[in-house]
Amino acid sequence: MNAELDNAEAGLGLERRIGKRSAAVIEKHLGITTVGGLLNYFPRRYMDRGELTPISEVPLDEDVTLIARVVSSSTRFMKTRRGSLTDVVITDDAGAAAPGTGTGRPGTLKVSFFNGHRAKAELQPGRRALFSGKITRYGGALGLTNPDFQLLDEDPDTPGMDPEALAAMPIPVYPATAKLTSWSIQKVVATLLETADLDALPDPLPAQITAREKFVPVADAYRLIHAPHGPADWQRARDRFRYQEALVLQAALARRRAQLAAEEATARRPAAEGLLTAFDRQLPFTLTAGQAAVGKTLAAELGQDSPMNRLLQGEVGSGKTVVALRAMLQVVDAGGQAALLAPTEVLAAQHFESIRRTLGPLSRDGMLGGFGPDAVQVTLLTGSMPTAARKQAMLDAASGTAGIVIGTHALLSDNVSFYDLGLIVVDEQHRFGVEQRDVLRSKARKPPHLLVMTATPIPRTVAMTVFGDLETSVLDELPAGRAPITTHVVGLAEHPAWATRIWSRAREEIDAGHQVYIVCPKIGSDDDGDFSPGEAEPTAADLDGDSAARELASVTAVVEQLRDEPALAGVPVAPLHGRLDPALKSETMASFTANQTKLLVSTTVIEVGVDVHNATLMVILDADRFGISQLHQLRGRVGRGGLPGTCLLVTALEPGHPSRRRLDAVAATTDGFALSQEDLKLRREGDILGASQSGGRSTLKLLRVLEHEDVIARARQDAWQIVGGDPSLGAHPALAASIDEYLNPEKEAFLERG
Ligand code: ADP
Ligand code: MG
Repeated sequence: MNAELDNAEAGLGLERRIGKRSAAVIEKHLGITTVGGLLNYFPRRYMDRGELTPISEVPLDEDVTLIARVVSSSTRFMKTRRGSLTDVVITDDAGAAAPGTGTGRPGTLKVSFFNGHRAKAELQPGRRALFSGKITRYGGALGLTNPDFQLLDEDPDTPGMDPEALAAMPIPVYPATAKLTSWSIQKVVATLLETADLDALPDPLPAQITAREKFVPVADAYRLIHAPHGPADWQRARDRFRYQEALVLQAALARRRAQLAAEEATARRPAAEGLLTAFDRQLPFTLTAGQAAVGKTLAAELGQDSPMNRLLQGEVGSGKTVVALRAMLQVVDAGGQAALLAPTEVLAAQHFESIRRTLGPLSRDGMLGGFGPDAVQVTLLTGSMPTAARKQAMLDAASGTAGIVIGTHALLSDNVSFYDLGLIVVDEQHRFGVEQRDVLRSKARKPPHLLVMTATPIPRTVAMTVFGDLETSVLDELPAGRAPITTHVVGLAEHPAWATRIWSRAREEIDAGHQVYIVCPKIGSDDDGDFSPGEAEPTAADLDGDSAARELASVTAVVEQLRDEPALAGVPVAPLHGRLDPALKSETMASFTANQTKLLVSTTVIEVGVDVHNATLMVILDADRFGISQLHQLRGRVGRGGLPGTCLLVTALEPGHPSRRRLDAVAATTDGFALSQEDLKLRREGDILGASQSGGRSTLKLLRVLEHEDVIARARQDAWQIVGGDPSLGAHPALAASIDEYLNPEKEAFLERG
């Protein structure tokens, strides 16, 4: 039950405090109906009255609130219509705007009013005012039409205030709409601050934390954030609410973790003599120290009767698969089944092939039959398999014949069931959300053990936030004998001749007995790329807003082109992409793995996991179309078998183009952690949490995952402690209520309406 709703004040209908009319306006435009809801509608930023907003920075086509000084004003009657037109030129004093000639100059903006009698009277040259409206463009110049405005020099909201104190008061800027200006919201909130019983509001922060951090009490914090008398006021208020947000988030994760841990799972203890011991004996290499240590942790946790919930982070090529496979074998030895969930069909098929190869005689095909403790049936289950094969795979999963089931999202579908699912391994987690993890979990009779693997190193705070309900292990070394990868940016703008030089370079590699990947951003000449739903990542185009004006390299066009490329005469070339028939796809992959196909032209389907040791060169065409982590993942496909790898990032962009920064960053280091930091700097906040925080959760207001690492870390520690001592949060009702609201923001509105 939501205690905040039990809290009379926070859950109180707004009309009881601000009147029916205002409440109706707020509900209509902001969708907010309660006292708590409006109090938590924080200003986005604050303006300093003494300053003028830089007009050169105002965004086009957006609702803005800005402070400016009037330069000139003129009114004339319109020729074609009845009425008058008042043109006011306003400035931020940045350009040297002469009165009357301001439009089009830097630092000025033309503001037009139809029948603007008040504008004509009040907006005299020299006056300063707040303007609110949508910025549009007429000809070359930016402008505002019929904006709302309010003179700053006489503030009707604060009569009788001494002018100096007034001048120091920041102006809160609320996320406004076209119909409801920031200062209208401010006025309503001011009324609410007076009428609401702020001291009766619930405080999710335990008193010791408020004291330790010297936070302002919650009632004061609401006053300071909405009606600050100086910048220090809103900063103090934000500090407290930001921490509060972090605590609620971390407590939600800690509670989830505690709830998961309290569930009863089947212990899958290591067998004295089983598949795992046989596997270890036949392993052609020695485990790295990291692999051995993580293996030990997993073995112990799988043997417990509470479910393991663990995240395994590891650099590309650090050998996560063998760690996962050993865990799966332990579970199979103990009589359970294991499922491996991969983000794409190609990767699922690759895992299937390579796991069966690695298992060797320990793997048993469905066809060969014969039960026995000396082998395990590995089964592939994907959405595009022929119906008969898929039915058989489903049957094997349901009957328990299949010990290890490898698949894609298809494993999540309703008609897939398991006989006794003991362990779920999710590979390349950044593409699966919490909800999908839960769907898979629900397929086991008892909560299964869970191992999540991610190849993209994630900064600590993102891990704490997105995977905060999981324990974390890290593989931080690569297996010995790994050859280095050299990465070069190939700039065709400066060196057009390199366009053909690439193919001779590929030929050299192939003549030396090696293989080559060519990666293209598109499949054909008229599509948008090769992104299945599981692969949705922001692309470079999303990051730049740079719509493709030039024709990008596509798999079909490049295969066509290479046919006539003298340097590659006689070289077996094959295309690979998501739209190929699944059978053809696996055939193509098999032929490349067997070193029959020498050169593979593909989309990013090879981005994750594909493992062909003989491949030494990767050429990424129009590399600027890909994000940093994608490029890092892609090049991890070469240099795998002790042979040095080379990666060429080909781009037609001019040197110095912002998108080339990404390429330079990737070429400069192979340290995945450094790159992920760089990547996150170039991305926006929403993209970080966006994919994982699905399910209609409220977004963070004041907390920035990258900026506030410190806050998140402290809040996490507090949250762990609180939840550890009070798992049901019975002694922390306000915190529990805030968690419920965070997890289910619609609930409040729903209950109100109901
Ligand atoms: P990733 O962590 O990127 O998923 P993989 O599990 O695909 O990496 O492993 C990359 C390659 O390294 C595979 O070919 C695997 O067989 C090999 N490998 C894994 N562990 C070791 C090891 N300890 N010594 C040598 N090679 C290893
Ligand atoms: Mg992998």
